[in-house]
Amino acid sequence: MTARNFKNLTVISHPVIDDRLAVLRHIGTSQQDFKKNLREIAQLMTFEITRYLKTKEVDIETPIEKTTANRLTNGDPIIIPILRAGLGLSEGISEILTNSPIGHIGVCRDEKTKRPKEYLVKLPSDLLDREILVVDPMLATGYSALHAIDLLVDKGVKVKNISLTILVAAPEGVQTIQDKYPDLKIYAAALDRELNENAYIMPGLGDAGDRIFGT
Ligand code: URA
Repeated sequence: MTARNFKNLTVISHPVIDDRLAVLRHIGTSQQDFKKNLREIAQLMTFEITRYLKTKEVDIETPIEKTTANRLTNGDPIIIPILRAGLGLSEGISEILTNSPIGHIGVCRDEKTKRPKEYLVKLPSDLLDREILVVDPMLATGYSALHAIDLLVDKGVKVKNISLTILVAAPEGVQTIQDKYPDLKIYAAALDRELNENAYIMPGLGDAGDRIFGT
């Protein structure tokens, strides 16, 4: 499958993000540099992935006078990394969104079926009242992200309140998500060419979890 324009996929194009992503892609990048550059990209992406959040006008008082200002209507969004690689990307996001509760969905890939296996779900209790950022660096087949989104929708979360933040997406993964959730917002730093026969993204950056955690 070749990359094309997808509805509701925003590829965040920015010179500094591109530069840091080049470092991540390089085979010779150390674990330490990988984590540092991933954190910087996540922080930069946060500006764009939160652009749609609603604000409300509130009365405030500065040291000088009374005025009005805009606050986030539902507070900072909930961040849900898909374990384990999602942790690496969520770290930089939560450094900007310091009031965000963080939920965790642990999904690993069954190497035979390439389908997700869930091993942990720990979520904040006020899921239904907040916007939710589901976070995973690599959108390959899309099955893990789809699993996480299905889980949230089953709990009553509205699709319009969920977005997916990805570092590198494959067209196959974007298609998987958009076939079921055409209106769900997806943000990525890059849309790569295609998957190889082992469901790794090409050119990609290899196994994100292994590179973050040094395994
Ligand atoms: N997961 C990764 O970490 N990398 C890929 O290329 C695909 C899935």
